[in-house]
Amino acid sequence: MLDAEFFRRWMAATAASVDREAERLTALDSPIGDADHGSNLQRGFKAVTAALEKDAPDTPGAVLALAGRTLISTVGGASGPLYGTLLRSTGKALGDAAEVGEAQFAEALRAGVDKVMALGGAAPGDKTMIDALVPAVDALGEGFGAARAAAEEGAVATTPLQARKGRASYLGERSIGHQDPGATSSALLVAGLEEAAGE
Ligand code: ADP
Ligand code: MG
Repeated sequence: MLDAEFFRRWMAATAASVDREAERLTALDSPIGDADHGSNLQRGFKAVTAALEKDAPDTPGAVLALAGRTLISTVGGASGPLYGTLLRSTGKALGDAAEVGEAQFAEALRAGVDKVMALGGAAPGDKTMIDALVPAVDALGEGFGAARAAAEEGAVATTPLQARKGRASYLGERSIGHQDPGATSSALLVAGLEEAAGE
């Protein structure tokens, strides 16, 4: 079972890896964006860490809802509302249970990813964070390690795609040949699950 402490560890692991990889995320956002993805998420997850330390919500749903709200209010770019919606909607789907099973979490995360697709209008293959998140959710039934591998593969597989959503889509065919920054950071988020589980 996964408790609030697990979800706090997930957010902390993600904050740490985003911090470590911020320069790389911003570098990926340079040729096909405006070179702010790393700094956007670094600021957002730093605020998430601070909010969770201050409030220490005691259910999984409340941890993710607070994290999501914090990302929406602190990240200016497109990715803030999208990641915020992902975590908030996932948290909402978990309700107010003190502990949730892995299958229940997988279902909730799928609901969160669906909300992101509804908000941003992106489908798989559009060269966005969805290209890492959908494979991860599909693989989650086989465990956190399988989800991490699927997300990483999905992120790498965005390179030959032409962007159809977000800032990168303005480049048309010139977006081909670059890995999507949001799919790359989504793979970090998914990898954080395995770290939180101590696997
Ligand atoms: P901005 O594009 O506003 O500068 P960021 O650089 O922080 O925001 O985030 C860019 C990332 O956001 C992209 O790499 C992509 O993965 C994701 N993204 C942008 N638009 C969408 C969308 N409509 N749906 C899903 N993801 C999107
Ligand atoms: Mg950007």
